[in-house]
Amino acid sequence: MKRPRLLGLVLKNLVSKPATIQYPRVKTPVELDFRGVQYADLGKCTGCSLCAIECPADAIKMTPIPPEYEVPKTNPRRIYPLINYGKCVFCYRCVKVCPTNAYIATNKYDIAGVSRLTSEAFSLTTLRRVGS
Ligand code: SF4
Ligand code: SF4
Repeated sequence: MKRPRLLGLVLKNLVSKPATIQYPRVKTPVELDFRGVQYADLGKCTGCSLCAIECPADAIKMTPIPPEYEVPKTNPRRIYPLINYGKCVFCYRCVKVCPTNAYIATNKYDIAGVSRLTSEAFSLTTLRRVGS
């Protein structure tokens, strides 16, 4: 690149706005149908395990529901799909195959943190605690 052209580019970039977003101070805009965090509504889940069997990334582990939660009679084994978002590739195969449409799909993406990222907290909020 010739010097005068390079100088012109430098001057242009000095006065133009940055091309990047200052995340996380500025939120990245996403489409409404962006495939973000998905989790099972345990009021609808029957614990059939189909989503775990079909997951191509082996990101779903069927897990016992803690005893302090009220579980619908339609889930006699009291198990639910626990998603490891660190392994999930967000293909939404689980959402599509669920025979009871139990999955709640969101466009939430900002879940990075120091703790292990799973659907536990999301799914358990869909059940009532015993006695509440
Ligand atoms: S979105 Fe795909 S990879 Fe993620 S848990 Fe569902 S089936 Fe598995
Ligand atoms: S496929 Fe649906 S009903 Fe079956 S375990 Fe998964 S979320 Fe529950």
